Amino acid sequence: MVDPVRDAAEIARFEAAVVRGPDAQDCWLFTGAIGGDGYGRLWIRRDGRRVMVRANRYALAVALHGDVLPPWERALHGCDVPLCARVSVPGETGRRHVFAGSQRDNMEQMGRSGRGGGRVAVRQRNAGVLARRDRSVALRAAVRNGWDAAAVADALAVGHPTLW
Ligand SMILES: [Zn+2]
Repeated sequence: MVDPVRDAAEIARFEAAVVRGPDAQDCWLFTGAIGGDGYGRLWIRRDGRRVMVRANRYALAVALHGDVLPPWERALHGCDVPLCARVSVPGETGRRHVFAGSQRDNMEQMGRSGRGGGRVAVRQRNAGVLARRDRSVALRAAVRNGWDAAAVADALAVGHPTLW
């Protein structure tokens, strides 16, 4: 749970690390730490303990304005960009970014984007994760000093996970 009042400084720190693309459909990319899985990482403090959360999940929790994000709700990406922290609200038109869904929704999403499933996918999973992390690192570099559209396009083309 992210409380808009209690966690205002934490939310501000998070939002300062997110760079928004100039076009209406662009992703908003997290430029903080990146985990081995290619997802953004954020350290927060809850009940006196440091907890690490994925940036996309944190964005989803912020969008709930104080309501609890249940553990079974996953942060899924319609845009297939792990670093994206732009929440798509229900009813919003255009490209879908981060939204809440179940594990089943996640499997369906993976099927649609060509991820997961099959022997080849199992064999190449590790390579896929490495490529995903490389892509996230390249994307972060592409927007760190402001959104560089050409560099973003290059980064998205390199090691795209749907190739796996
Ligand atoms: Zn996105």
